[in-house]
Order: sequence, then C-alpha cells, then structure tokens
Amino acid sequence: MSTIYDKFGVRPIINVSGASTRVGGALMPAEVIESMREAATESVSMSELQGAASRYISEVTGAEAGYVTSGASAGLTLGTAAIIAGCDLGKIESLPRTDGFKNQLIISREHRNGYDHAARLAGAILVEVGMNEITANAGVRRTEAWEYEAAINDSTVGIYYSQGPDSHPPLEDVINVAKKNNLPIIVDAAGELPPKENLRRFIDMGADLVAFSGGKSLRGPQSTGILCGKKHLITSVALQNLDMDEFFEIWNPPSDLIPKDTLPGIPRHGIGRGFKVSKENVIGLLTALKLFVEDDYVSTYGEQRQFLEYISSSIDDETINTKIHEPIEGSPILTISINLNLHKKSAFDISNELKNGSPGIFVQEVGLEQGAITIHPLNLNEERTKLVTERILKVIQ
Ligand SMILES: *Cc1c(COP(=O)(O)O)cnc(C)c1O
Repeated sequence: MSTIYDKFGVRPIINVSGASTRVGGALMPAEVIESMREAATESVSMSELQGAASRYISEVTGAEAGYVTSGASAGLTLGTAAIIAGCDLGKIESLPRTDGFKNQLIISREHRNGYDHAARLAGAILVEVGMNEITANAGVRRTEAWEYEAAINDSTVGIYYSQGPDSHPPLEDVINVAKKNNLPIIVDAAGELPPKENLRRFIDMGADLVAFSGGKSLRGPQSTGILCGKKHLITSVALQNLDMDEFFEIWNPPSDLIPKDTLPGIPRHGIGRGFKVSKENVIGLLTALKLFVEDDYVSTYGEQRQFLEYISSSIDDETINTKIHEPIEGSPILTISINLNLHKKSAFDISNELKNGSPGIFVQEVGLEQGAITIHPLNLNEERTKLVTERILKVIQ
C-alpha cells in the first residue's frame, strides 16, 4: 500500500476507528473532493460565499442563518463570542477579555468535557450546576432544570448544552429555562449527525445556536463544521471570523449575513480570525451536506456491513467472539471480544500490534479496557478490508 504520504516519509495507516480527528477523520466522497478541486481554481468573495452558505444551511436546518466554521469546536468558540459580544464592536475588540460585561455560561456539571475549552477560549466563565451523584454512587438524581434557573445572576450571558444520546435534563426543559429568562442557549451537537432529522431538531426546539462537525459522519473536509441559529448571532460570528481589513466606504457584505447599515463601522480582525475557513473547505462542506441531506450515504450501509461480515467470518478462534452491532442510524460496528482468560494477548496488546505494523491499523479506543477491539467501517473499501483482515488474523494467532 503506497500513498501520497510516502512522499514525505509518512507511513500509510488504515483508520477503522471512524471519524476520529487523530486519524484524519472521515475520508471524503469523490464528489466532495472534486468540488474542492474546482473551488480551488476560481476566486470568490468570502463574505458572498458565506452569505450563500448561510442561505443553504438555513434551508436544510430551518435556522434563521448559518455559517461554515473550521470545525464544531470553532463553532462553539465563535458562537460563545457572539453570545458575549453580539454586534457591539467594543466588546468584539475586547475578547477574550470579558471584564465588566456579562460572561457567565451555565452548564450542567455532567455536561463538562474537554471540548468546552472552546467556550472558555472566547472568554466565557463556565458556571456548573447539578451534581454527579450517580457517578459518585451517592444519589439517584441527575441535574434538574431548576438548578440552571437558580444559578442565573447579573453576569449570566447564556446556557451551554452538550447534546448526546443520554444528555440530561432534556434539551427542551433547559430551553424552557433559557426562554423564560431571555438567555441564549448554545448546543454542542458535534457528533449528532446522523440522523438527518437532527439538522432541524434542536433548532425546532428553540436552541439559539447549534454546532455540528463537518468532518465526522457528514464526510466533509476534516477542518469544517456548521454553526446555525439566530440571525443576529450569526452576523456577530461573521464579523468576528471574516477578514475585516476593509474601508467602510467600499465594504459591501451580503446584507442578509451582515446588515452594514446597522453598524457604526468595521471591527478589526476578531477573535475568530484564526479559525479561517478556505473557499475550498466551504464548498466541500456544502457539497457533503447536500449529499447527506439527499440520503446519498444511506446506500453505503449495506456495503459497510459486508466489509464487517468479511472480517468477522474470517476469524475462527474459540477464544474470540465477534458481533456486528446494528445502530438505529449511521454505521454498523464490529466488536471482536478477546476472552482474557483464554487468549494470551489483551485487547491493548492486539491494538498496539495493529497500530505499529504496516500498514498501521487504528481501531477504536472505546471498549479496549473491556477486552474488545471495535472496528468502524466508515473508511473501509474492499482492498482495506482484506488488509485489515490479514493483519488481524496474523496478530491474534
Ligand atoms: C468531535 C467533537 C467536537 C469537536 O468537533 P470538531 O468538528 O472536530 O471541531 C466537539 N464536541 C463533541 C462532543 C465532539 O464529539
């Protein structure tokens, strides 16, 4: 197996861990790659391009406006910056310093995770509510909506919500608290696609901003994401992300993205300037989004299952159990469970050997400590499936 990476001395690997960033994320469909190639051959006004992106994202999410960000994480930073600064040019200039203005985002203690650094980056102070009583084996109740309300004070600027299959309290309840208190709520929904319905679901519930990853199951460029929501917040995002080195007299951004006549001037480069999104990435993301919305990926499910069946049926070892898990949405998953009492290698040993061989095979981290090797088929094709099978058979001998 020889790849473009060989030219620069980087060994080829096979990513069977899914869309994980550390192994390059999802491979893009040919149509997305071709759209990016074409986008790279012509110039375009970036504000006009983001204006068009906003209209398309609005159409498929039902949100008032949208923006292509350099990942869900960037969307969370930009969205938080928008919630804190709005279109106040002085505040935009001040970020990430937020002394003297509302800067607290309320978050459930059980929603805290490494990605919330993105919100802190914009200058937000996260105020935790609730208790981890179940994890601590010291109680039965999870965070409750009233706890958000009780934490609201004069410095509260909004609510931060991390959406997952088991997130609690339900988003609807937290949105109720937000609406009642006139506070915006930003939702981290990075990994919540598919199902396709989620493009609209959180917006329909009344979330003010929702961030999705573009480089996970959407299969767009790795360094893209979508932020959608209220128009005035997306305007603030555009002001803090686009190249602002311009004369007011000749500045003509699309008025639906940035209503120039409501502004006293042009801000300097904002806190989001480092989250630049290239024209190729915007087009790649929009093309991937279109494929996703038009159900182009649904047909790949059967093929993905066949790849997993091929691997699974090749393993014939009484100390190893294989099982294909059918999700309600998305990709099937293969787990290869090692009977630790009978097999001489642990799942960690096997994972390490797979990783360090040639080609390197990177399986999911999830499950290793329970003795299971998990294979995600997102980036498999026939050739890679055979290579993965050969390597697994060798390593488990
Ligand atoms: C992946 C992920 C992110 C980051 O998304 P990027 O698009 O890689 O920036 C944020 N939050 C959660 C919960 C994620 O799973």
